[in-house]
Amino acid sequence: MTTTETLEALHTKWAHENTCALKNVASRAVYGVGNPKADVLFIGEAPGKKEDETGVPFVGAAGKFLDEMLASINMKREDIYITNIVKYRPPNNRDPEPSEKEACKEWLHEELNTINPKLIIFLGRHSMNHFFPELRISEAHGKLITKTIPGITTRYFLPLYHPAAALYNGGLREELLRDFKKIPLALKKIKEGV
Ligand code: URA
Repeated sequence: MTTTETLEALHTKWAHENTCALKNVASRAVYGVGNPKADVLFIGEAPGKKEDETGVPFVGAAGKFLDEMLASINMKREDIYITNIVKYRPPNNRDPEPSEKEACKEWLHEELNTINPKLIIFLGRHSMNHFFPELRISEAHGKLITKTIPGITTRYFLPLYHPAAALYNGGLREELLRDFKKIPLALKKIKEGV
């Protein structure tokens, strides 16, 4: 099976077997998308309104900002893979509940290990705290983490502010743009074996 076929089978299986309570209120599951051979994989929080309507992650305002930032480092959506911690939209975009994150956990972990990227980028604190509950995004953003996490094949992680939080906050926006520029550098270090 190709990686694309493995991912398709994975999404179909989990969309069927998943027990997340949000399944009953969301329009559809929003699967991760992008390059199955990506070196860089982004993890957001949960789908919003536009994503729930289209079934594609990061297509709303935050997604447009993300595309601009990718362009600033000469990358495109086709170069990366992007997914969310929770695959269904929480009502009115409220924060996902711990039980909802837990219900989508295995789906996410299988997705990550299928792609096995060199670098995982957390978009926002929900995504970061899923793997590193002790960290604060205000301190951890823009700092490369090297860690072996049981059950996860990737060893390098970079937390960033969530583009939606940074969209209307000038200070965070500048910080996020600066942190984004660290992605090519981090990748280079990882490939050279830091
Ligand atoms: N915010 C997220 O965290 N994920 C999306 O898919 C869209 C907005």
